[in-house]
Amino acid sequence: MKIISINAGSSSLKFSLINMDDESVIASGVFERIGIDGSYTIKFNGEKHKEEVTLNNHVDAVNILLDKLISLNIVKSLEEIEGVGHRVVQGKDLFDKTVLVDDEVMEKLESIKHFAPLHNPANMLGIEAFKKALPNVPNTVVFDTAFHQTMDAVEYMYPVPYEWYEKYGIRKYGAHGTSHRYITETVSEILGTDKLKLISCHIGNGASITAVKDGKCVDTSMGFTPLAGVMMGTRSGDIDSSLLPPVMEAENKDINEIINDLNKKSGVLGLSGISSDMRDLEDAYNEGNERAILTMNKYVRRITDYIAQYYVLLGGSDVIVFTAGVGENSPLIRKLVCENLACLGVEIDDEKNNIRGKQAEISTENSKIKVYVIPTDEELMIARDTLELIK
Ligand code: AMP
Repeated sequence: MKIISINAGSSSLKFSLINMDDESVIASGVFERIGIDGSYTIKFNGEKHKEEVTLNNHVDAVNILLDKLISLNIVKSLEEIEGVGHRVVQGKDLFDKTVLVDDEVMEKLESIKHFAPLHNPANMLGIEAFKKALPNVPNTVVFDTAFHQTMDAVEYMYPVPYEWYEKYGIRKYGAHGTSHRYITETVSEILGTDKLKLISCHIGNGASITAVKDGKCVDTSMGFTPLAGVMMGTRSGDIDSSLLPPVMEAENKDINEIINDLNKKSGVLGLSGISSDMRDLEDAYNEGNERAILTMNKYVRRITDYIAQYYVLLGGSDVIVFTAGVGENSPLIRKLVCENLACLGVEIDDEKNNIRGKQAEISTENSKIKVYVIPTDEELMIARDTLELIK
């Protein structure tokens, strides 16, 4: 059985076609610059197929994708595709799990789209495009927020006027839930139990840390939007919001411009002035660049703070997992974070830690908390959910 996982952005659409018999990726790729001009890249059988094409909208991208699946001999017939799973960024408290798309689901999505104005409308365009192109194939929506719906009010409420929650839905929703759930399920499989206190560190360009107990999310570092929590590639993470008015006034910026600065010009990029990419920061850090050293220390400090907070919240921890671009590929960040956690009995083995993009236990036998690197796979999680629902 073949299932497509879709991640639609405002001007892009990424896909993975997965063979669910062995969970292998048959083909994957991305359609870019939708609504501007257009191009695609499709990876299949070790080859990359690239072409400039006109993509007026997401429907064009989906139609060309389906044509290419046939003309590149990726599938013999579109009937081989039995389900399409769509990533949706924000499900608010309306969705606590993956659902099959029907009219009611589309209405609910419509009602909450202003909560993620850059993402949800684009995700919906992807769903509409597939409904049109493959009308007999079921679609599912997999929410980035759903895994975090088990949080308690004491974790998700902000200490602001209660009416803001009642009237405007102001609370913590979190993000990266599909990745944290994948990590939770993978760790449970490795250790043979889900009765675990797990701290899942998804550290990529965006980053979030989640506390999980017995398979359920207890708290997570992102908030009402993905701007909160740890420091990220270009996002500030937690800050004191009172710093905004003097900067707005001095730079003559409105609230949207300043939020844009916090999302796109802050974090590793803003503090270092070098780059948002951890590889560039590591190079400058290793050369002794002072701003890079400050940035690295701050980055590591923020991650450590959240792990320590969740250690207390969970009443201890059995496992810490590093995942996503930085978590999977940076032995240095893992080492610096774990050194800060030495007082909790965390100890990693430098040789075992010297891996990139591979699953491994990197803690020593004496470590009081097991530490793992596990490559995340959100596309597979989306496909698994879709398979489960269409069965
Ligand atoms: P993601 O958002 O999960 O795709 O992660 C992307 C980020 O991973 C990049 O911006 C880099 O900062 C980081 N990254 C990728 N490869 C490496 C590496 N070898 N060492 C350190 N950081 C890396």
